[in-house]
Amino acid sequence: MRLADDKRQIVAAVSMFVEKEVRPVASALEHADRYPHELVLGMKDLGLFGSLIPEAYGGLGLDSTTYAMVIEELCRGWMSLAGVINSHTMAALIVLNHGTDEQRRRFLPRFARGEARGGLCLTEPHAGSDVQAIRTVARRRGDEYLITGTKMFVTNGREGNTFALLARTDAAADPPHKGMSCFIVEKGHPGLQVVKSIGKLGYKGVDTAELVFEELPVPAGNLVGGVEGRGFKQVMSGLETGRINIAARAVGVAQAAFDEAVRHARARPRATNAPPALANMATRLSAARLLTYWAAGMKDRGERCDLEAGMAKLYASEAAQEIAMEAMRVHGEAGALTRLDVERHYRDTPLMIIGEGTNEIQRLVIARNLLERYGERSGALASLEGLPDEKKQMVLAVRQFVEKEIVPTVHDSERAGRNPEEIVRKLGELGILGALVPPQYGGLGLDLTTYAMILEELARGWTTLAGIISGHLTVARLVAQSGTTEQRKRLLPTMARGDLMGSAALTGAVTARRSGRTWVLNGTVPAVDNASHAALFAVPARMERGRSAWFLVKRDLKGLTLSPPLDTLGARGLDTCELRLKAVRIPASPLAGDGAALVVAKLGIAATAVGLAEAAFEAALRYSQQRSAFGKPICHHQAIQLKLADMATAITTARLLTHRAAATQDAGEAGGLEAGMAKLYASEMACAVTLEAMRIHGGYGYTTEFPAERFYRDAPRLMLALGGPDAERLAMARHLRERA
Ligand SMILES: Cc1cc2nc3c(=O)[nH]c(=O)nc-3n(C[C@H](O)[C@H](O)[C@H](O)COP(=O)(O)OP(=O)(O)OC[C@H]3O[C@@H](n4cnc5c(N)ncnc54)[C@H](O)[C@@H]3O)c2cc1C
Repeated sequence: MRLADDKRQIVAAVSMFVEKEVRPVASALEHADRYPHELVLGMKDLGLFGSLIPEAYGGLGLDSTTYAMVIEELCRGWMSLAGVINSHTMAALIVLNHGTDEQRRRFLPRFARGEARGGLCLTEPHAGSDVQAIRTVARRRGDEYLITGTKMFVTNGREGNTFALLARTDAAADPPHKGMSCFIVEKGHPGLQVVKSIGKLGYKGVDTAELVFEELPVPAGNLVGGVEGRGFKQVMSGLETGRINIAARAVGVAQAAFDEAVRHARARPRATNAPPALANMATRLSAARLLTYWAAGMKDRGERCDLEAGMAKLYASEAAQEIAMEAMRVHGEAGALTRLDVERHYRDTPLMIIGEGTNEIQRLVIARNLLERYGERSGALASLEGLPDEKKQMVLAVRQFVEKEIVPTVHDSERAGRNPEEIVRKLGELGILGALVPPQYGGLGLDLTTYAMILEELARGWTTLAGIISGHLTVARLVAQSGTTEQRKRLLPTMARGDLMGSAALTGAVTARRSGRTWVLNGTVPAVDNASHAALFAVPARMERGRSAWFLVKRDLKGLTLSPPLDTLGARGLDTCELRLKAVRIPASPLAGDGAALVVAKLGIAATAVGLAEAAFEAALRYSQQRSAFGKPICHHQAIQLKLADMATAITTARLLTHRAAATQDAGEAGGLEAGMAKLYASEMACAVTLEAMRIHGGYGYTTEFPAERFYRDAPRLMLALGGPDAERLAMARHLRERA
């Protein structure tokens, strides 16, 4: 994520503040439940009370992305500090976005300076999720309103002085939200009493209070926007920002917990394995951050992002709680000692699951959004907005191809186990077989991000096809990047045309021994996709002294044999064979670029998993709208909505991880860790999502009449590829422990 210099400086200043001022005292203050007056002054000096307030009113005028980074940094030190700023900011935003000019001029500079310290009064003792059930009333009397009621869980309720409060101004309104109004309520009159500070599991130090209002007079000039009946919409409109903030909070706490776990793992003897949990934690943390910045980026571009902000909040908060728990587990019994920070992270994280709309409500909102916005559209979740035109056209062309050429025939082809040779030929005509081949050799020279998108589209139609293309292009990329000039000239043009098909023989036990000017290869690769149709194999082999490298092995070489196609659970038609090499002599040198080819292979698996899951999700979404039970479409049942929301969030997460891994490679960075994360998360996600899709289809999901059973069969291959998830986790954990 690139930030302008001034914004980067602000985030860096907050980061330094956290290291120098916050981290040394956070634990003691939190355990003592003491309000952090000094730190709040520090935040004031940094201008954070005016974070989202425009410069014209004396604020910093940050965008949502930078603000999310600021919140993340604060929470890396101590989550309670973000509470002080967040609730305040939400109150200020209500004035900024819905107040009259006069209200903006009167309140915003004071909010920005931190003189007016804001809070939100929505929840009441009997009503939180169901905001329309609030009972607090505001009765007009002359040029003021009298407010009566009780507000619960008000963050900054004791230390704050200026609250945005939702009350009923028309008790008879139907629906009730039309009779609700928002007021800016200031302290200083006996009609407003802080009756109780609420004790909490975590999030200590910051005050959460119960406020009672008894005929509190509020000037009519403090009715936000000056018109009654708009309050509900006004407070709800801030929810996108609120959710992004909660997601950012979760990312910050999760980062702190993860850092503690890595620190602990580093302190242990090198002889022991790094805890594999580190791999999951790192993946979830990265994914949470990606989702948060993604939603914030949409907000900054002025795009609608209620669904996306909800996904970010849902995913990041659940991830943070899991990461905090894993961090405790990594520490063993010591994890529960209060001298360590991890128990604090464990106490802090559930709040993000509950606050700003519980995650149950969040999922219902996501599901409703999915049904309204994407109900019948193919490619539902794969938004191509923001993609350069040329790439968008390419991906759309593949999507259309899939709809026209693959979807109508896939059912029969798959049942017959037919290799889609003819479709591959047509994809060749579209240029797809040369997607990663540089233009001077007749290819399209696409970057890996576009490649991932294309594979995803293909996999939406049929994973077999994605398997063929990704295997071929992995070899082409290897030749393009690591082959000799002669190899490039000889092989790439024919590969781009599809006259020469390649296949990557990824996980075998092959050895390479030097013999004069040739290399001699021996060993077996148990499963090579599209093997009987490929004429060129890229084979990784172990050489002397534990080194390994890739070799290009032509199909017609003496000593190379293929088994007949193996029967497989899914991806039928892929003609997966065992490859045996017995004293196969290769005259050319081995290729470098071992890691890079593996990264491309992992990307291919991740993108295929995303496409497969997307297909399963779309089928389930459609089915849930068409199938009725108990008198209504099943998509109106909550249990189904929760599933749809979780499926869509998981797919989106996997897609962001995959695109990030591709972009890392495109930027010329190593990207092994990112590709590992994408492959691990996406392949396991595909297994889970395809099962959920089957469940949503009920009994029909289990039959061969519906594609759900095919999706379910296709997923495990992706999870098991390249040594499977356990090996990936161990390798990632080792990398995470060892990197500086
Ligand atoms: C530390 C802390 C600080 C807070 N700060 C503030 C603040 O500054 N200002 C403020 O206004 N509020 C604040 N809150 C309140 C918070 O926003 C609410 O607690 C939250 O929205 C949930 O409301 P509730 O507690 O009434 O739970 P309920 O609404 O009673 O929900 C109870 C359970 O029922 C589930 N549920 C409810 N309705 C449905 C449904 N339709 N379908 C499925 N499940 C459902 C919920 O998901 C939850 O699991 C704070 C809370 C805490 C704990």
